[in-house]
Amino acid sequence: MISIEHINKWYGDFQVLTDCTADISKGEVVVVCGPSGSGKSTLIKCVNALEPFQEGRIIVDGISVGDPQTDLPLLRSRIGMVFQNFELFPHLSITENLMLAQQRVLGRSADEARDTGLKLLDRVGLKAQAAKFPGQLSGGQQQRVAIARALAMNPIAMLFDEPTSALDPEMVNEVLDVMTELAQEGMTMMCVTHEMGFARRVANRVIFMDKGRIEEDCSAVEFFGSPRGERAQHFLSKIL
Ligand code: ATP
Ligand code: MG
Repeated sequence: MISIEHINKWYGDFQVLTDCTADISKGEVVVVCGPSGSGKSTLIKCVNALEPFQEGRIIVDGISVGDPQTDLPLLRSRIGMVFQNFELFPHLSITENLMLAQQRVLGRSADEARDTGLKLLDRVGLKAQAAKFPGQLSGGQQQRVAIARALAMNPIAMLFDEPTSALDPEMVNEVLDVMTELAQEGMTMMCVTHEMGFARRVANRVIFMDKGRIEEDCSAVEFFGSPRGERAQHFLSKIL
């Protein structure tokens, strides 16, 4: 489903990604972890073309991300992305936030977009908040709206970049619960997170990055059982 092949990327002279290769199959949940600055955000941004890369190939559902012929807005709309800071449109109601891209990018009618949006809002437990604005919701609620908004585009995969790290601790689980449900329903997911409980319970695989390289790529059971590299062990000893 997502095939990352020998990616090299530089910011000026600084090589941020070195020979990154990973395959994520349909329905697989992969957690990406590693120290700050190791290139986790950069790697997942490359997957939906928010960042260009100089060498290598990324193929998502048969579409080559780096190919100049690729319809990037369409590709991005099919890969749901959820960021740390929710990024809802503050001047639009929750319903309008859910409708906008469905209408603009997928050409859905207002009725269809509203129906789809409200169904997904219900699914993340926020139907009662439909008429509110983002600023009137808690961080955890806003993040669940952001997930619903991504799902409204019928994504073939979902990318998460530290979706819970800006939340107060009591709101982390409501977001992880939604992500866990998605995983159980078979969504293909690539999640940058330091929530190792989630990784242990939900991830099929863990990718550990350090200094722009994928240092470990193994099953979650293996990773938590006996991470092979010294740096992964050191990382785990600090965050567990
Ligand atoms: P964190 O855990 O702090 O989010 P990360 O693993 O997501 O870190 P990235 O944000 O991918 O790391 O950054 C990787 C490296 O690239 C860092 O050294 C960062 O300073 C550098 N970097 C990121 N974005 C840019 C940019 N636009 N221009 C130059 N350097 C950048
Ligand atoms: Mg990051």
